[in-house]
Amino acid sequence: MSLLQKAADLLLPKTRCLSCDEPRRISPGQALCADCLNQLENLRIGRNVCDNCLSPVRFNTPCEYCAQGGMAGLRRAFSPFVYRDVTQKLIVRLKFGGAALAAEPLAHEMALCVSGMRFDAMVPVPLYKSHQRERGFNQSRLLCELIHEHTGIPVMEALLKKHNRRRQSSLPAHKRSQNVKGAFKVILPVAGMEVLLVDDVRTTGSTVRECAAELLKAGADSVYLLTAAIAKPRRKTK
Ligand SMILES: [Zn+2]
Ligand SMILES: [Zn+2]
Repeated sequence: MSLLQKAADLLLPKTRCLSCDEPRRISPGQALCADCLNQLENLRIGRNVCDNCLSPVRFNTPCEYCAQGGMAGLRRAFSPFVYRDVTQKLIVRLKFGGAALAAEPLAHEMALCVSGMRFDAMVPVPLYKSHQRERGFNQSRLLCELIHEHTGIPVMEALLKKHNRRRQSSLPAHKRSQNVKGAFKVILPVAGMEVLLVDDVRTTGSTVRECAAELLKAGADSVYLLTAAIAKPRRKTK
């Protein structure tokens, strides 16, 4: 670090890092301290993954997630990070702490995953309206808006969540598909569109498969998925 940088660093006020929660000197508008930013680099999705769904695969073996229908209705998945440590903390903050600041480092990297690609619209995975009221915002919509600033892809809130069933994260993997069955409805015209469905994290994928099925039923040409992170599913996808 140069003397000038050191001096500039000392001038910054101490703010709590959104990941490690330590008071650190962080540039205004940034979510993470230098250490956590470094750790974030190590959480990038690496090479030993399936090209289609980004799940980890062993060398020369077919992808289990795809074989089990994990990508049904989805053309391809894009995501910058594995869901763990720093990314997990940022996403939890984003969802439950209402910290919109946490969205920016994720959205920036998400935008890079689809840079130069053409989509007609980005569609956020919706929340049920009472959940959205409680939370104050929909984290997927917020990610869409930030990604739009980087990519220019239009944001279209084409999906509505009709039913308020149990929160997906409270259920074991095998019950999640059932829980979201028929929960979403398409409320804007999507016929003939190449849609980029956006969510914060893909775990089993039941929610995004259900959203994709509805979009395709409504005539969307194809549905691609962009998430901030991909969690390693612990059990079977169905
Ligand atoms: Zn930190
Ligand atoms: Zn796969």
